[in-house]
Amino acid sequence: MNPILALARPDILELQPYQHAAWDPSLERMHANEMPWRAQGDNSAAGLNRYPEPQPHSLVERMATLYDVPPGNVLVGRGSDEAIDLLVRAFCRAGEDSVLITPPTFGFYKVAARIQGAGVIEVPLLQEAFALDVPAVIEAANVAKIVFLCSPNNPTGNLLDEAALLRVGRELADRALVCVDEAYLEFTNRPSLAGRLDALPNLVVLRTLSKAYALAGTRLGTLIASEEVVGLLKRIIPPYAIPASTIEQVLALTEAPQRAMAAARIRTVVEERGRAAARLSRMDCVVRVHASDANFLLVEFHDAGRALEAGKAAGLLVRDFSRAPGLANCLRISIGTPAQNERLLAALERP
Ligand SMILES: *Cc1c(COP(=O)(O)O)cnc(C)c1O
Repeated sequence: MNPILALARPDILELQPYQHAAWDPSLERMHANEMPWRAQGDNSAAGLNRYPEPQPHSLVERMATLYDVPPGNVLVGRGSDEAIDLLVRAFCRAGEDSVLITPPTFGFYKVAARIQGAGVIEVPLLQEAFALDVPAVIEAANVAKIVFLCSPNNPTGNLLDEAALLRVGRELADRALVCVDEAYLEFTNRPSLAGRLDALPNLVVLRTLSKAYALAGTRLGTLIASEEVVGLLKRIIPPYAIPASTIEQVLALTEAPQRAMAAARIRTVVEERGRAAARLSRMDCVVRVHASDANFLLVEFHDAGRALEAGKAAGLLVRDFSRAPGLANCLRISIGTPAQNERLLAALERP
């Protein structure tokens, strides 16, 4: 058995999970109190009068293929956000346990912890290139149940060093879950850490269709972990979590043509990112452009408020991080179409 399960909340380990209506498509359904007819205008394949399959096999298989991992290591949920929430709820006792985060980083780790009543230990990324402070993370993680690491990191944009991530994973092997959020990995050439799952039973990897696959509206995230951790989270995910419409759309929109289109668009985004970074670096209003491995740029301005207003005047909204610790005067700019990028650059260049 995976020793990491011993870290889970004892009451969750003992929980009698909700019993779904049995899933047996070979029989006609008179067991789930559904209406036997579709709503007028329901053109879905499965019929929206029917509850969807919990952890749909076809969808789990598709995500396993997409991310090149065995299906038994996959849990699908409503975005990576649901996976983060499930992890915190399964492992952290309210008022007792904590998660560790490395700010500046993705905001939802902290919010999910707070909702659960868990503590939040912060070990800031190093000022130099927003690198991971490995010894400090390992030391502070002594009292954490989950270490959230985001690579490429949002909002800074940089990949975390792979050797550093692996070292944290190894050092904490029987002490804490190490959750590596790879929401932006498709914009890099780095292989997923999911390939290391056999060596690291405490590793959890998060992937999402929301960014590179242009499917944020379907809300589909994938958690990749040991079979034991996946099994534990299946016990607490809400019943019938994935909507039928999401199942059908994701299966239809992650076929070979869409994957080829995604790859081409990723190349365009990376090119545009380089072009925008070069132009921004030459502007008088810019202090610096941080190196990015993702589909956005973190830019420090002399006056972030002014840059934000210049964007708005051109009808373009970028994200203000100027009040986040360590990110004074920083804005995060998502790479848009070449035309949008050009409009924003022109607006910022205007004196
Ligand atoms: C966008 C984002 C997510 C959220 O992904 P969903 O699958 O849409 O919930 C998770 N992690 C990071 C770092 C993100 O930037």
